[in-house]
Amino acid sequence: MLHRLRRNADADGATEMSVFSMADFDGHEFVHAFFDRKTRLKGFVAVHSTALGPAFGGCRMWPYADDQGALRDALRLSLGMSLKNAMANLPYGGGKAVIIGDPRHDKTPELFEAFGRIIESLAGRYITAEDVGVDVDDMRAIERSTNYVGGIPQAEGYRGGDPSPRTALGVLQGLKAAVSARLGTDSLTGLTVAVQGAGSVGYELCKLLHEAGARLLVADINAENVARCVDELGATAVDPDGILVAEADVLAPCALGGVLNERTIPELKCSVVAGAANNQLATVADGDRLQARDILYAPDYVINAGGIISVAAERDPDADADRVRARIMAIGERTAEVLQASRRTGTPPHQVADELAREIIREAEAGQGSAAA
Ligand code: NAD
Repeated sequence: MLHRLRRNADADGATEMSVFSMADFDGHEFVHAFFDRKTRLKGFVAVHSTALGPAFGGCRMWPYADDQGALRDALRLSLGMSLKNAMANLPYGGGKAVIIGDPRHDKTPELFEAFGRIIESLAGRYITAEDVGVDVDDMRAIERSTNYVGGIPQAEGYRGGDPSPRTALGVLQGLKAAVSARLGTDSLTGLTVAVQGAGSVGYELCKLLHEAGARLLVADINAENVARCVDELGATAVDPDGILVAEADVLAPCALGGVLNERTIPELKCSVVAGAANNQLATVADGDRLQARDILYAPDYVINAGGIISVAAERDPDADADRVRARIMAIGERTAEVLQASRRTGTPPHQVADELAREIIREAEAGQGSAAA
Protein backbone atom coordinates (compact mmCIF):
# COMPACT_ATOMS: atom_id res chain seq x y z
CA MET A 1 0.00 0.00 0.00
CA LEU A 2 1.27 3.42 -0.87
CA HIS A 3 0.81 6.00 1.85
CA ARG A 4 3.03 8.86 0.94
CA LEU A 5 4.55 10.13 -2.25
CA ARG A 6 7.64 12.22 -2.43
CA ARG A 7 6.76 15.30 -4.44
CA ASN A 8 10.16 16.90 -4.75
CA ALA A 9 13.22 17.22 -2.61
CA ASP A 10 15.16 20.35 -1.82
CA ALA A 11 17.91 21.47 0.50
CA ASP A 12 15.47 21.61 3.40
CA GLY A 13 14.48 18.03 2.86
CA ALA A 14 11.63 16.33 1.07
CA THR A 15 8.24 17.86 0.48
CA GLU A 16 5.79 15.01 0.75
CA MET A 17 2.27 14.59 -0.41
CA SER A 18 -0.12 12.26 1.34
CA VAL A 19 -2.44 10.29 -0.92
CA PHE A 20 -5.07 10.57 1.79
CA SER A 21 -5.12 14.36 1.67
CA MET A 22 -5.47 14.57 -2.10
CA ALA A 23 -8.77 16.07 -3.23
CA ASP A 24 -9.44 13.01 -5.41
CA PHE A 25 -8.96 10.49 -2.61
CA ASP A 26 -12.38 8.97 -1.99
CA GLY A 27 -11.76 6.23 0.56
CA HIS A 28 -9.88 4.16 -2.03
CA GLU A 29 -9.04 0.67 -0.76
CA PHE A 30 -5.50 0.76 -2.05
CA VAL A 31 -3.06 2.38 -4.41
CA HIS A 32 -0.13 0.42 -5.76
CA ALA A 33 2.85 2.28 -7.20
CA PHE A 34 4.92 0.13 -9.55
CA PHE A 35 8.27 0.31 -11.26
CA ASP A 36 10.07 -2.32 -13.33
CA ARG A 37 13.81 -1.74 -13.61
CA LYS A 38 14.31 -3.70 -16.80
CA THR A 39 11.57 -2.15 -18.96
CA ARG A 40 11.29 1.19 -17.10
CA LEU A 41 7.57 0.50 -16.71
CA LYS A 42 6.09 2.79 -14.08
CA GLY A 43 2.70 3.89 -12.90
CA PHE A 44 -0.10 3.23 -10.47
CA VAL A 45 -2.94 0.81 -9.93
CA ALA A 46 -5.73 2.42 -7.90
CA VAL A 47 -8.50 0.26 -6.49
CA HIS A 48 -11.42 2.29 -5.26
CA SER A 49 -13.73 -0.47 -4.10
CA THR A 50 -14.04 -4.24 -4.20
CA ALA A 51 -17.40 -4.28 -2.40
CA LEU A 52 -19.24 -5.59 -5.46
CA GLY A 53 -16.41 -7.86 -6.62
CA PRO A 54 -12.84 -7.64 -7.90
CA ALA A 55 -11.96 -4.20 -9.21
CA PHE A 56 -12.31 -4.14 -13.00
CA GLY A 57 -11.19 -1.23 -15.16
CA GLY A 58 -8.89 -0.36 -18.01
CA CYS A 59 -5.25 0.57 -18.18
CA ARG A 60 -4.34 3.98 -19.58
CA MET A 61 -0.93 4.86 -21.03
CA TRP A 62 -0.28 8.58 -21.20
CA PRO A 63 2.76 10.88 -21.07
CA TYR A 64 1.74 12.50 -17.79
CA ALA A 65 3.69 15.64 -16.97
CA ASP A 66 4.39 14.36 -13.47
CA ASP A 67 3.67 11.52 -11.04
CA GLN A 68 0.98 13.47 -9.23
CA GLY A 69 -1.01 13.95 -12.43
CA ALA A 70 -0.84 10.21 -13.06
CA LEU A 71 -1.87 9.38 -9.51
CA ARG A 72 -4.72 11.89 -9.62
CA ASP A 73 -5.96 10.32 -12.85
CA ALA A 74 -5.77 6.82 -11.36
CA LEU A 75 -7.76 7.95 -8.30
CA ARG A 76 -10.44 9.66 -10.38
CA LEU A 77 -10.71 6.95 -13.01
CA SER A 78 -10.94 4.13 -10.45
CA LEU A 79 -13.74 5.92 -8.58
CA GLY A 80 -15.49 6.32 -11.94
CA MET A 81 -15.18 2.57 -12.53
CA SER A 82 -16.78 1.81 -9.15
CA LEU A 83 -19.75 4.00 -10.06
CA LYS A 84 -19.89 2.69 -13.65
CA ASN A 85 -19.78 -1.00 -12.69
CA ALA A 86 -22.38 -0.45 -9.96
CA MET A 87 -24.77 1.36 -12.34
CA ALA A 88 -24.31 -1.34 -14.98
CA ASN A 89 -25.21 -4.04 -12.41
CA LEU A 90 -21.87 -5.76 -12.92
CA PRO A 91 -20.43 -7.97 -10.17
CA TYR A 92 -17.26 -5.91 -10.10
CA GLY A 93 -15.74 -3.11 -8.12
CA GLY A 94 -13.77 -0.18 -9.49
CA GLY A 95 -10.10 0.06 -10.31
CA LYS A 96 -7.86 1.53 -12.94
CA ALA A 97 -4.20 1.44 -13.89
CA VAL A 98 -2.15 4.23 -15.40
CA ILE A 99 1.20 3.71 -17.08
CA ILE A 100 3.37 6.80 -17.33
CA GLY A 101 4.72 6.84 -20.88
CA ASP A 102 4.02 7.81 -24.45
CA PRO A 103 2.09 5.10 -26.26
CA ARG A 104 3.53 6.30 -29.57
CA HIS A 105 7.15 5.62 -28.54
CA ASP A 106 7.39 3.67 -25.31
CA LYS A 107 5.33 0.54 -25.94
CA THR A 108 7.02 -2.87 -26.08
CA PRO A 109 5.62 -6.37 -25.52
CA GLU A 110 8.12 -6.75 -22.67
CA LEU A 111 6.73 -3.66 -20.94
CA PHE A 112 3.21 -5.09 -21.01
CA GLU A 113 4.44 -8.51 -19.89
CA ALA A 114 6.04 -6.75 -16.91
CA PHE A 115 2.73 -4.95 -16.29
CA GLY A 116 1.02 -8.36 -16.37
CA ARG A 117 3.34 -9.56 -13.60
CA ILE A 118 2.38 -6.49 -11.52
CA ILE A 119 -1.30 -7.36 -11.95
CA GLU A 120 -0.65 -11.02 -11.14
CA SER A 121 1.01 -9.92 -7.88
CA LEU A 122 -2.29 -8.28 -6.87
CA ALA A 123 -3.82 -11.77 -6.83
CA GLY A 124 -7.11 -10.98 -8.56
CA ARG A 125 -8.06 -7.85 -6.66
CA TYR A 126 -7.69 -5.89 -9.93
CA ILE A 127 -8.50 -6.99 -13.50
CA THR A 128 -7.32 -4.85 -16.40
CA ALA A 129 -8.48 -4.08 -19.97
CA GLU A 130 -7.92 -1.47 -22.69
CA ASP A 131 -8.13 2.29 -22.21
CA VAL A 132 -6.58 5.31 -23.89
CA GLY A 133 -3.21 4.44 -25.45
CA VAL A 134 -3.54 0.70 -24.87
CA ASP A 135 -4.94 -1.83 -27.37
CA VAL A 136 -5.77 -5.48 -27.96
CA ASP A 137 -2.14 -6.40 -28.81
CA ASP A 138 -1.08 -4.97 -25.46
CA MET A 139 -3.75 -7.08 -23.73
CA ARG A 140 -2.36 -10.17 -25.45
CA ALA A 141 1.11 -9.33 -24.08
CA ILE A 142 -0.33 -8.82 -20.59
CA GLU A 143 -2.12 -12.18 -20.89
CA ARG A 144 1.25 -13.94 -21.14
CA SER A 145 1.82 -13.00 -17.47
CA THR A 146 -1.65 -13.04 -15.93
CA ASN A 147 -5.23 -14.18 -16.47
CA TYR A 148 -6.57 -11.07 -14.74
CA VAL A 149 -7.02 -9.32 -18.06
CA GLY A 150 -9.99 -8.67 -20.37
CA GLY A 151 -10.50 -7.18 -23.82
CA ILE A 152 -9.10 -10.28 -25.53
CA PRO A 153 -10.98 -11.22 -28.71
CA GLN A 154 -13.32 -14.21 -28.33
CA ALA A 155 -14.81 -16.46 -30.93
CA GLU A 156 -18.02 -14.52 -31.42
CA GLY A 157 -19.73 -11.13 -31.44
CA TYR A 158 -20.45 -8.90 -28.55
CA ARG A 159 -18.23 -10.65 -26.05
CA GLY A 160 -14.69 -9.49 -25.39
CA GLY A 161 -12.11 -8.05 -27.72
CA ASP A 162 -11.73 -4.34 -28.38
CA PRO A 163 -14.43 -2.74 -26.22
CA SER A 164 -14.61 0.48 -28.26
CA PRO A 165 -17.45 -0.44 -30.67
CA ARG A 166 -19.55 -1.65 -27.71
CA THR A 167 -18.77 1.48 -25.76
CA ALA A 168 -19.92 3.52 -28.75
CA LEU A 169 -23.14 1.50 -29.05
CA GLY A 170 -23.95 2.18 -25.39
CA VAL A 171 -23.07 5.87 -25.72
CA LEU A 172 -25.47 6.12 -28.65
CA GLN A 173 -28.30 4.73 -26.50
CA GLY A 174 -27.54 7.21 -23.71
CA LEU A 175 -27.21 10.08 -26.17
CA LYS A 176 -30.59 9.25 -27.69
CA ALA A 177 -32.22 9.13 -24.25
CA ALA A 178 -30.76 12.56 -23.48
CA VAL A 179 -31.90 13.99 -26.82
CA SER A 180 -35.39 12.62 -26.20
CA ALA A 181 -35.48 14.17 -22.71
CA ARG A 182 -34.11 17.57 -23.70
CA LEU A 183 -35.18 18.06 -27.32
CA GLY A 184 -38.32 15.93 -27.32
CA THR A 185 -37.39 13.81 -30.33
CA ASP A 186 -36.51 10.14 -30.73
CA SER A 187 -34.77 10.74 -34.05
CA LEU A 188 -31.25 12.00 -34.61
CA THR A 189 -31.90 12.80 -38.25
CA GLY A 190 -30.80 16.33 -39.02
CA LEU A 191 -29.38 16.98 -35.56
CA THR A 192 -25.81 18.25 -35.31
CA VAL A 193 -23.41 16.38 -33.04
CA ALA A 194 -19.97 17.83 -32.24
CA VAL A 195 -17.56 15.00 -31.48
CA GLN A 196 -14.35 15.82 -29.64
CA GLY A 197 -11.85 13.01 -30.27
CA ALA A 198 -12.32 10.56 -33.15
CA GLY A 199 -10.16 7.77 -31.72
CA SER A 200 -11.27 4.22 -30.98
CA VAL A 201 -14.66 5.10 -29.46
CA GLY A 202 -15.19 8.48 -31.12
CA TYR A 203 -14.82 7.04 -34.62
CA GLU A 204 -17.21 4.15 -33.87
CA LEU A 205 -19.69 6.63 -32.42
CA CYS A 206 -19.39 8.81 -35.52
CA LYS A 207 -20.24 5.79 -37.69
CA LEU A 208 -23.38 5.07 -35.64
CA LEU A 209 -24.42 8.73 -35.59
CA HIS A 210 -23.93 8.95 -39.35
CA GLU A 211 -26.12 5.86 -39.85
CA ALA A 212 -28.74 7.51 -37.63
CA GLY A 213 -28.79 10.58 -39.89
CA ALA A 214 -26.93 13.05 -37.68
CA ARG A 215 -24.71 15.79 -39.08
CA LEU A 216 -21.18 15.46 -37.71
CA LEU A 217 -18.67 18.08 -36.60
CA VAL A 218 -15.42 16.33 -35.68
CA ALA A 219 -12.16 17.46 -34.09
CA ASP A 220 -9.07 15.52 -33.13
CA ILE A 221 -5.48 16.53 -32.45
CA ASN A 222 -4.58 13.67 -34.79
CA ALA A 223 -5.44 14.91 -38.31
CA GLU A 224 -5.69 11.37 -39.74
CA ASN A 225 -8.52 10.54 -37.36
CA VAL A 226 -10.48 13.57 -38.55
CA ALA A 227 -9.74 12.81 -42.21
CA ARG A 228 -11.32 9.35 -42.08
CA CYS A 229 -14.53 10.83 -40.61
CA VAL A 230 -14.58 13.50 -43.32
CA ASP A 231 -13.87 11.02 -46.13
CA GLU A 232 -16.03 8.13 -44.96
CA LEU A 233 -18.86 9.86 -43.11
CA GLY A 234 -19.10 13.31 -44.65
CA ALA A 235 -18.17 14.95 -41.35
CA THR A 236 -17.12 18.59 -41.16
CA ALA A 237 -13.65 19.05 -39.67
CA VAL A 238 -13.42 21.51 -36.80
CA ASP A 239 -10.29 22.86 -35.14
CA PRO A 240 -9.63 21.14 -31.77
CA ASP A 241 -9.75 24.57 -30.09
CA GLY A 242 -13.22 25.22 -31.50
CA ILE A 243 -15.09 21.96 -31.02
CA LEU A 244 -16.39 22.61 -27.49
CA VAL A 245 -17.90 25.90 -28.57
CA ALA A 246 -19.27 24.68 -31.92
CA GLU A 247 -22.95 25.33 -32.65
CA ALA A 248 -24.44 21.88 -32.19
CA ASP A 249 -27.44 20.17 -30.64
CA VAL A 250 -25.22 17.65 -28.88
CA LEU A 251 -21.62 17.80 -27.72
CA ALA A 252 -20.02 14.35 -27.45
CA PRO A 253 -16.69 14.51 -25.59
CA CYS A 254 -14.75 11.40 -26.62
CA ALA A 255 -11.16 12.43 -25.84
CA LEU A 256 -9.89 13.00 -22.31
CA GLY A 257 -11.55 14.06 -19.06
CA GLY A 258 -12.01 17.44 -17.40
CA VAL A 259 -13.34 19.21 -20.52
CA LEU A 260 -16.49 20.48 -18.77
CA ASN A 261 -15.22 23.10 -16.39
CA GLU A 262 -15.60 26.61 -15.04
CA ARG A 263 -13.92 28.04 -18.13
CA THR A 264 -15.60 25.99 -20.89
CA ILE A 265 -19.19 25.66 -19.62
CA PRO A 266 -20.12 29.35 -20.05
CA GLU A 267 -18.99 29.06 -23.70
CA LEU A 268 -20.89 25.89 -24.69
CA LYS A 269 -23.48 26.25 -27.44
CA CYS A 270 -25.16 22.84 -27.21
CA SER A 271 -28.35 21.62 -25.50
CA VAL A 272 -27.07 18.16 -24.57
CA VAL A 273 -23.69 16.76 -23.53
CA ALA A 274 -23.39 13.01 -24.07
CA GLY A 275 -20.09 11.36 -24.86
CA ALA A 276 -17.71 8.53 -24.09
CA ALA A 277 -14.88 10.27 -22.24
CA ASN A 278 -14.42 9.35 -18.60
CA ASN A 279 -14.55 12.10 -15.99
CA GLN A 280 -15.89 14.80 -18.27
CA LEU A 281 -16.80 17.03 -15.33
CA ALA A 282 -13.66 18.66 -13.92
CA THR A 283 -15.43 18.96 -10.55
CA VAL A 284 -18.84 18.04 -9.17
CA ALA A 285 -19.75 21.75 -9.24
CA ASP A 286 -19.48 21.64 -13.03
CA GLY A 287 -22.51 19.35 -13.18
CA ASP A 288 -24.45 22.06 -11.35
CA ARG A 289 -23.08 24.67 -13.78
CA LEU A 290 -24.39 22.70 -16.74
CA GLN A 291 -27.82 22.44 -15.14
CA ALA A 292 -27.83 26.17 -14.44
CA ARG A 293 -27.23 26.74 -18.18
CA ASP A 294 -30.06 24.33 -19.07
CA ILE A 295 -27.64 21.98 -20.78
CA LEU A 296 -28.62 18.37 -20.17
CA TYR A 297 -25.66 16.22 -19.15
CA ALA A 298 -25.90 12.46 -19.62
CA PRO A 299 -23.53 11.21 -16.87
CA ASP A 300 -20.43 9.77 -18.56
CA TYR A 301 -20.15 6.56 -16.59
CA VAL A 302 -23.83 5.73 -17.05
CA ILE A 303 -23.62 5.90 -20.85
CA ASN A 304 -20.07 4.67 -21.52
CA ALA A 305 -20.43 1.27 -19.79
CA GLY A 306 -20.87 -0.76 -23.01
CA GLY A 307 -17.17 -1.62 -23.20
CA ILE A 308 -16.84 -2.89 -19.65
CA ILE A 309 -20.10 -4.83 -20.08
CA SER A 310 -18.67 -6.68 -23.07
CA VAL A 311 -15.24 -7.17 -21.49
CA ALA A 312 -16.80 -8.46 -18.25
CA ALA A 313 -18.79 -10.95 -20.33
CA GLU A 314 -15.53 -12.72 -21.17
CA ARG A 315 -15.58 -13.96 -17.58
CA ASP A 316 -19.29 -14.89 -17.61
CA PRO A 317 -20.02 -18.29 -19.18
CA ASP A 318 -23.76 -17.45 -19.43
CA ALA A 319 -23.21 -14.27 -21.42
CA ASP A 320 -24.13 -15.11 -24.99
CA ALA A 321 -24.10 -12.42 -27.68
CA ASP A 322 -27.82 -11.63 -27.36
CA ARG A 323 -27.60 -11.19 -23.63
CA VAL A 324 -24.55 -8.92 -23.84
CA ARG A 325 -26.14 -6.81 -26.54
CA ALA A 326 -29.32 -6.50 -24.44
CA ARG A 327 -27.23 -5.35 -21.46
CA ILE A 328 -25.61 -2.68 -23.60
CA MET A 329 -28.91 -1.52 -25.09
CA ALA A 330 -30.32 -1.21 -21.53
CA ILE A 331 -28.02 1.79 -21.07
CA GLY A 332 -30.67 3.85 -22.90
CA GLU A 333 -33.38 2.99 -20.39
CA ARG A 334 -31.06 3.49 -17.43
CA THR A 335 -30.05 6.92 -18.71
CA ALA A 336 -33.72 7.83 -19.22
CA GLU A 337 -34.46 6.82 -15.61
CA VAL A 338 -31.64 8.99 -14.27
CA LEU A 339 -32.80 11.94 -16.37
CA GLN A 340 -36.44 11.47 -15.32
CA ALA A 341 -35.45 11.38 -11.64
CA SER A 342 -33.39 14.50 -12.21
CA ARG A 343 -36.30 16.33 -13.80
CA ARG A 344 -38.69 15.15 -11.06
CA THR A 345 -36.47 16.25 -8.18
CA GLY A 346 -34.55 19.15 -9.73
CA THR A 347 -31.32 17.38 -8.75
CA PRO A 348 -28.69 17.51 -11.52
CA PRO A 349 -28.24 14.19 -13.40
CA HIS A 350 -24.64 13.64 -12.26
CA GLN A 351 -25.79 13.86 -8.65
CA VAL A 352 -28.75 11.52 -9.21
CA ALA A 353 -26.41 8.94 -10.78
CA ASP A 354 -23.76 9.31 -8.07
CA GLU A 355 -26.33 8.79 -5.33
CA LEU A 356 -27.78 5.68 -7.01
CA ALA A 357 -24.37 4.14 -7.66
CA ARG A 358 -23.02 4.90 -4.20
CA GLU A 359 -26.15 3.40 -2.64
CA ILE A 360 -25.54 0.13 -4.55
CA ILE A 361 -21.95 0.07 -3.30
CA ARG A 362 -22.98 0.91 0.29
CA GLU A 363 -25.49 -1.96 0.28
CA ALA A 364 -22.79 -4.37 -0.88
CA GLU A 365 -20.45 -3.09 1.83
CA ALA A 366 -23.17 -3.58 4.44
CA GLY A 367 -23.69 -7.13 3.13
CA GLN A 368 -19.95 -7.83 3.44
CA GLY A 369 -20.02 -6.59 7.02
CA SER A 370 -22.87 -8.89 8.03
CA ALA A 371 -21.31 -11.86 6.23
CA ALA A 372 -18.13 -11.37 8.19
CA ALA A 373 -19.93 -10.98 11.52
P1 NAD B 1 -8.31 6.87 -28.04
O1 NAD B 1 -6.97 7.21 -27.53
O2 NAD B 1 -8.46 5.81 -29.06
O3 NAD B 1 -9.04 8.19 -28.62
C1 NAD B 1 -8.94 9.43 -28.03
C2 NAD B 1 -8.81 10.42 -29.17
O4 NAD B 1 -8.89 11.75 -28.64
C3 NAD B 1 -7.49 10.32 -29.93
O5 NAD B 1 -7.74 10.21 -31.31
C4 NAD B 1 -6.78 11.63 -29.59
O6 NAD B 1 -5.95 12.10 -30.63
C5 NAD B 1 -7.95 12.55 -29.33
N1 NAD B 1 -7.68 13.73 -28.52
C6 NAD B 1 -6.91 13.84 -27.41
N2 NAD B 1 -6.95 15.10 -26.96
C7 NAD B 1 -7.76 15.79 -27.79
C8 NAD B 1 -8.20 17.13 -27.84
N3 NAD B 1 -7.80 18.04 -26.95
N4 NAD B 1 -9.04 17.51 -28.83
C9 NAD B 1 -9.44 16.61 -29.76
N5 NAD B 1 -9.07 15.33 -29.75
C10 NAD B 1 -8.23 14.92 -28.79
O7 NAD B 1 -9.20 6.55 -26.74
P2 NAD B 1 -10.63 5.86 -26.67
O8 NAD B 1 -10.44 4.44 -26.27
O9 NAD B 1 -11.41 6.19 -27.87
O10 NAD B 1 -11.25 6.58 -25.40
C11 NAD B 1 -11.77 7.90 -25.49
C12 NAD B 1 -12.38 8.29 -24.16
O11 NAD B 1 -13.44 7.38 -23.83
C13 NAD B 1 -11.42 8.22 -22.97
O12 NAD B 1 -11.75 9.21 -22.03
C14 NAD B 1 -11.69 6.85 -22.37
O13 NAD B 1 -11.34 6.78 -21.02
C15 NAD B 1 -13.18 6.77 -22.57
N6 NAD B 1 -13.70 5.41 -22.59
C16 NAD B 1 -13.23 4.53 -23.49
C17 NAD B 1 -13.74 3.23 -23.51
C18 NAD B 1 -13.29 2.22 -24.53
O14 NAD B 1 -14.00 1.21 -24.72
N7 NAD B 1 -12.20 2.44 -25.22
C19 NAD B 1 -14.74 2.85 -22.59
C20 NAD B 1 -15.22 3.82 -21.69
C21 NAD B 1 -14.70 5.10 -21.70
